[in-house]
Amino acid sequence: MDLESLKQQDPEIYQAITGETEREKEKIVLIASENYASKAVLEAQGSVFTNKYAEGYPGRRYYAGCEFADLVENLAIERARELFGAEHVNVQPHSGTQANMAVCFSVLKPGDTLMGMSLSHGGHLSHGAPVNFSGFLYNAVTYGVNRDGFIDLDQVRDLARRHRPRLILVGASAYSRTIDFKAFSEIAGEVDAYLLADIAHIAGLVAAGVHPSPFPHADFVTTTTHKTLRGPRGGMIMCRAEYAREIDRMIFPGIQGGPLVHVIAAKAVALKEALTEEFRSYQVRVVNNARRLSEELIRQGLEIVSGGTDNHLMLVDLTAKGITGKEAEGALDAAGITVNKNSIPFDRKPPTITSGIRLGTPCVTTRGMGEEEMIEIASIITEVLNNTGLEDRLRALRERALALCRRFPVYQASETGGRRSKF
Ligand SMILES: *Cc1c(COP(=O)(O)O)cnc(C)c1O
Repeated sequence: MDLESLKQQDPEIYQAITGETEREKEKIVLIASENYASKAVLEAQGSVFTNKYAEGYPGRRYYAGCEFADLVENLAIERARELFGAEHVNVQPHSGTQANMAVCFSVLKPGDTLMGMSLSHGGHLSHGAPVNFSGFLYNAVTYGVNRDGFIDLDQVRDLARRHRPRLILVGASAYSRTIDFKAFSEIAGEVDAYLLADIAHIAGLVAAGVHPSPFPHADFVTTTTHKTLRGPRGGMIMCRAEYAREIDRMIFPGIQGGPLVHVIAAKAVALKEALTEEFRSYQVRVVNNARRLSEELIRQGLEIVSGGTDNHLMLVDLTAKGITGKEAEGALDAAGITVNKNSIPFDRKPPTITSGIRLGTPCVTTRGMGEEEMIEIASIITEVLNNTGLEDRLRALRERALALCRRFPVYQASETGGRRSKF
């Protein structure tokens, strides 16, 4: 994008943006929650809608001059409804956490019981972690995975019967297996709980039909728009028509003021992209790449939690390698591969150290990389993990990572791999 004014006016911020642009281009990003939004998404987000106040909803605003804001928000809503088959959509949540907060506030009173997946087993902060609003306002009961790394539905059912939660949350940030929304809705039905499916990580896969949809099983579906969905940073709530009023009221004026209309414009653009056949085939490649990467890592002697993946991510268990997640994250970064350390189920190390790393394929797939490149990435990762202390080796591996990045550029037209990229 043209940053001429910024360059003149604020060289420090201009420099930081230039640095970040280079970083995103020259590192292999395997952070499972990140992606590269298209130029069109970035342009919409950088637009003059930044200037507009639009408290309220289309057709019922508290400010004049909202005719174009209405247009944008209605388009975002219509596209999301079409994409996910949702009865009602609210596109105003500033983040995934705020989307979850609005749902919690609409069905729970402080002190009520909610049940979500434990953070240490792959759940999200906003599903009842003690340090989050969901943990300190409510009585949070958590379920987890079994020793094989799969969600333990028997445990979920037992806990639900014992604690009778008013809300059950299903969805995760570090779980590599297909989620059985129908089974969760049966459990919720049995104990008369509401079901909230949080598809923040897998929204793109769900939209493309490569992961089962939470509809019609869940009462509420929340998501972020910036992960596999490949839009701007933000959140979204979908629900049955019967809950529409309460959800809208809880987002505004309940927990937010004016919506970020520039972000909503970018959400609309991303949702339009997500309705294309190209997006569907992208998500298929994301999943195929993740499967291939996990198979290769296993072949080279690494351990993957649950033995593999059905979606866009995997957790590598480093216990047998004798290195920590923190060490692995640092060594990989030095070699040009960006990942995050991550607790593995039943981890004995604290969350600041961990015994694992989380890897995901949305970013590299957006660059156009395919299964051949996953083999090369797996080989670099294994070599890094075998040579964590050796700076010379890491520098040499950095060259291999860089070569891959140069072959698959982002944010410029490219014929690489036979696919013209608009990223
Ligand atoms: C990422 C994520 C969120 C929320 O993300 P924000 O950073 O608040 O936008 C919520 N739920 C799950 C499962 C997530 O992975």
